[in-house]
Amino acid sequence: MATYRDLPSVDALLRHPRVQADRGAGSQARLVTAARQALGEARAALGQGRPAPTAEALAERLLALAAAERAPYLRPLINASGVILQTNLGRAPLSAAALEAMTLVAAGYSNLEYDLERGARGSRQAGIAHLIPAVTGAAAGFAVNNNASAVLLSLAGLAAGKDVLVSRGQLVEIGGGFRIPDVLRQSGAHLVEVGTTNRTYGRDFAAAITPATAAILRVHPSNFVQQGFTHQPDLAELAELAHRHGVLLIDDLGSGALLDTAIAGIAHEPTVQESVAAGADLVCFSGDKLLGGPQSGLLAGRADLLALLAQHPLARAVRLDKLGLAALEATLRHYLLDEATDALPIWRMLLRRPDEIADQAAAWTERLREAGVPARVVAGESTVGGGSLPGETLPTALVQLSPPAVETLARALRTGNPAIIGRIHHEALLLDPRTVAAEEEGALLGRLVVLWGEQQNGSGSPAPVV
Ligand SMILES: *Cc1c(COP(=O)(O)O)cnc(C)c1O
Repeated sequence: MATYRDLPSVDALLRHPRVQADRGAGSQARLVTAARQALGEARAALGQGRPAPTAEALAERLLALAAAERAPYLRPLINASGVILQTNLGRAPLSAAALEAMTLVAAGYSNLEYDLERGARGSRQAGIAHLIPAVTGAAAGFAVNNNASAVLLSLAGLAAGKDVLVSRGQLVEIGGGFRIPDVLRQSGAHLVEVGTTNRTYGRDFAAAITPATAAILRVHPSNFVQQGFTHQPDLAELAELAHRHGVLLIDDLGSGALLDTAIAGIAHEPTVQESVAAGADLVCFSGDKLLGGPQSGLLAGRADLLALLAQHPLARAVRLDKLGLAALEATLRHYLLDEATDALPIWRMLLRRPDEIADQAAAWTERLREAGVPARVVAGESTVGGGSLPGETLPTALVQLSPPAVETLARALRTGNPAIIGRIHHEALLLDPRTVAAEEEGALLGRLVVLWGEQQNGSGSPAPVV
């Protein structure tokens, strides 16, 4: 039986010809760390009664660990899950124009805060200041690094030390630790809960307004639906009530669509234009949800309020960087030019026709079968995600694989290169073409063929080669 003494020392492992031949593998310190790790794994394997790895295998493992160190952690992946806006996967892919705008601004200097006409300091918001009103109908616009910041800045700037009324049905958690009561506390405003969990009326708000009230905050429930014996006053009613009592109406719209999602055959997600038209003084929404742009938070509303917020110290702390600004400007311009449904990937995915997806799924299945991978097309559903339209689905066609060990295959797909994310349902792996770009298809099918083959030969073990 092999013992720890059968393993080489760190020095001996570093002198192995394979390691010596690969001088570029990393600094001496990195190689020593990798050697220790490779030997540690080998000792653990021995401890479990497994055989001692050969010196060759140890050297390969050391080099693999050193190489992994040089590979970037954050990298692209293929989303075959059919969830169009997935926060864990980076939300909205950007349009070609947005990508180009980012690259140009990133590569060199720009007029980020420089007024070229006057030859003097300018505003970072100049490029989007007219675009947000143009596409939303609001008097003015402003952008920060995400919608959580937009809501925090609005409350801190307009209601700190005063009361903010929120319906008990809207004290929501959006995910990732964004909870309305906590955000209110952070802003320095006092939360006044109004109504009940399921029913809140305009008269509940009216009764709660005092001289200490600064605003009514309406929060779009985003990721859940209330059904049954429920009531919420609509936005126009809230606006009328707020203005009659001299307080503000702030609307946290969450996703903030600029186009009607009903054109994709799904429920209508409230639009920013509707909130503005209903009389909200300020509307806050995300740039990377249904807007289809970069991570950012947009504010659309009254010019005097936005001028105040722009001066607030928090505005500097949550400001949007130049890459985000460049991409956001390009994204908003797609709406201005009426080309959003063609230019923005998320709208193209939302609007893909089921028969076209079915053809694509059939083509994938055929190519897989020709390579010896049994696959079939099944009907299924894609989802919008991104905290919009909970429960709403889009009919799609899925490619279904039933490998002997579905978790093992899914893991191998996730951890390989390129990483691929599918769905597991009833022991089968499901892949949705809706969220896969044409240029990703080859790599996706290639990986499936390779990994399927490895699983059939029993060599698909994810354990390191020791
Ligand atoms: C998503 C969401 C937020 C947070 O937006 P981020 O852009 O992720 O910061 C805030 N409020 C609502 C209602 C949301 O849906």
